[in-house]
Amino acid sequence: MTTCFDKTKNFNKNLKRKSINTLQINVGYKCNLNCEHCHFQSGPNRTEQMSWTVMQDILQFTQENNISIIDITGGAPEINPFIKDFIKELKLINSVRNINLRTNLVILNLPEYSHLSEFFAENNIELTASLPCYLEENVDKQRGNKVFKSSIESIKKLNLLGYGQENTNLKLNLVYNPGGAKLPPEQQELKKAYKQYLKSEYDIVFNNLYTITNLPIGRFKDDLIKNDNIDDYKALLKSKFNPSNLKNLMCLSQLSVDWQGKIYDCDFNQALGLRIPTDSPYIGKVKLSDLQDLPVVFHEHCYACCAGSGSSCTGSLT
Ligand code: SF4
Ligand code: SF4
Repeated sequence: MTTCFDKTKNFNKNLKRKSINTLQINVGYKCNLNCEHCHFQSGPNRTEQMSWTVMQDILQFTQENNISIIDITGGAPEINPFIKDFIKELKLINSVRNINLRTNLVILNLPEYSHLSEFFAENNIELTASLPCYLEENVDKQRGNKVFKSSIESIKKLNLLGYGQENTNLKLNLVYNPGGAKLPPEQQELKKAYKQYLKSEYDIVFNNLYTITNLPIGRFKDDLIKNDNIDDYKALLKSKFNPSNLKNLMCLSQLSVDWQGKIYDCDFNQALGLRIPTDSPYIGKVKLSDLQDLPVVFHEHCYACCAGSGSSCTGSLT
C-alpha cells in the first residue's frame, strides 16, 4: 500500500504497485553535456559509474524476476566502459523483449563513441533521445551551444542505419520537455508538428515523441529559484492535478536502479535520494515479492507526473 504524505494528499492512499515489468538502470552520472534542466546535475565532471559487479547482479535479478523491459539511462550511458558487454548479456535473457537506451545524440558524434550507433542498430536497441524543440535556438538554450546541429547530424546517421524508418524495427523516439515553467503541449499534436518540421527542414524521421513535464528538482529547480517562480510552478502543477493519471504512473510498474545497485521507485526519486524503504535496497539482495506491499515514496515533486495529461519517461499518461 502506498502512504500519503502531507504534501501529496491528493495521491490515492490505496494506490498499489502492479507487477514490475520494467527496470530502469542508471549506469552513471557522467555526461558530455551540461543541460540546464538536468535532474541529475550530470556533466563532464561527475565520476559515478556502474561497475561490472553491479551489472552482473542486475543481470541475475532480471533473469530471476522475468523483467521484460530494460531502460538504460545516465548521465550519458555510452560513457560507461562496460555498456556493450552489459547489452550483449541482457540480450541473452529470455524474458527481455525490449532494451531501450537514452542518448543525448551529441555523444554519438564524438570519435570515441561514434561506433556505438552501429552497435545499437546491430543489437536492435531502441533509442530515446532528448530534442526539447524542433527549433535550434530553443534546444541550444536548454542544452548548450551547437547541440541542435549535432543532434540533427546524429539523427541523420541513425536514419541511414534504419532508425525511425517505417520498414525497420529500429525505433528512434524523441523527448520534448518545456523550456520554462509550464506544462507540455498535447503530445500527439506536438508530434505532428515535430514530424512535419524536421522532415521538411532536415529530411529526418523518427517514431514517437514523448512529452515530459519538468520536475521541480535538480538544475531545473535551481533555475526556478533563480527566476523567483518556484512557488508559482509548484502551484501550477498542483492546480492541474488529474487523478486519472494515478493508475498509469510509471512507478507502479517499474524499478529504478542507481550506479551502486540501489533501488528506487523512479529516476526522479533516485535523483532526490528517496529510496524504497526496504531493509535490502541493493538489487543483488532484493526480492520482488518483498516490495509488493511497500509504499511508493510519493512526495511533492510527484505532482509533475500527475498534472494535465500526465508525464512519465515514455511521455504523457492519458
Ligand atoms: S539532461 Fe541528459 S544529456 Fe543533459 S546533462 Fe543531464 S544526463 Fe546529460
Ligand atoms: S516522481 Fe512520478 S514516477 Fe516518481 S514516484 Fe513520483 S509519481 Fe511516481
